Amino acid sequence: MARTSPPPTLRDLRNKVPSLRQSGTPPALLDRAKKLLAVYLDTAAAQKVADADVLRALADGSAALSIGGIELDMQAKSPPEPLTRAACRAGCAFCCILTGRDGGTITRAEAARLHTALAPLKGHPDGRAWHDKACPALDPETHMCRAYAARPMICRSYFSVDAGACEQNANGHPTPGAAILGAHQSYLTIHALARALLAGHAKVPTYSLATLAAAAVEGQEATTALRAARQPPRALDDERKRAAP
Ligand code: SF4
Ligand code: SF4
Repeated sequence: MARTSPPPTLRDLRNKVPSLRQSGTPPALLDRAKKLLAVYLDTAAAQKVADADVLRALADGSAALSIGGIELDMQAKSPPEPLTRAACRAGCAFCCILTGRDGGTITRAEAARLHTALAPLKGHPDGRAWHDKACPALDPETHMCRAYAARPMICRSYFSVDAGACEQNANGHPTPGAAILGAHQSYLTIHALARALLAGHAKVPTYSLATLAAAAVEGQEATTALRAARQPPRALDDERKRAAP
């Protein structure tokens, strides 16, 4: 019978971070992500968080989300110049027309939160009544997100200086104007580092935003919805390489 090694301790994880490699990630971004991850682990150790809870947060993406969220708050307080010219406003939702195959890559923590927010909306018209590729979380009349507090990092990080460009993009005509805040790159990089840290001990899955949202509003229970939305392992690497600066 194959023997399984015991799960890594917090100290094991902390010691492994400096040696992690990641193909396709610019050195500056990788270095920054590793430092942020090391601080996260040091803080967990200082706060005496149980090893099992840290492993769970790394695996379900809560860790990447928490670190990315802090970075997002910092970018909101001290915005990069393009963000000061953002055309984004409530009810403008061309960015919620999900033109990519999966509509975005999200973590298990985000998928679970989104499912909880959307499940009560079963039977209501959803975004696809406005546009066949719109996110099912969208309200088809007001064009507002019906899961705003639970929207994933990709939605929180996306902005544009030109709503007209977003409309062109949604209609399949690539037009410059939209951008993604660096916090999203950190989040993807850290989630991929978490996968490398836990290799051989725990899965670090990702999910399709579009599939998960559709399954939730169609009334699938959480386990079935997450199973349907689970992406192949390469999806995270593809997404972080696409998002890399
Ligand atoms: S990203 Fe584009 S479509 Fe979305 S709110 Fe901003 S301007 Fe509107
Ligand atoms: S979750 Fe909300 S903000 Fe994100 S794409 Fe869907 S409707 Fe838009």
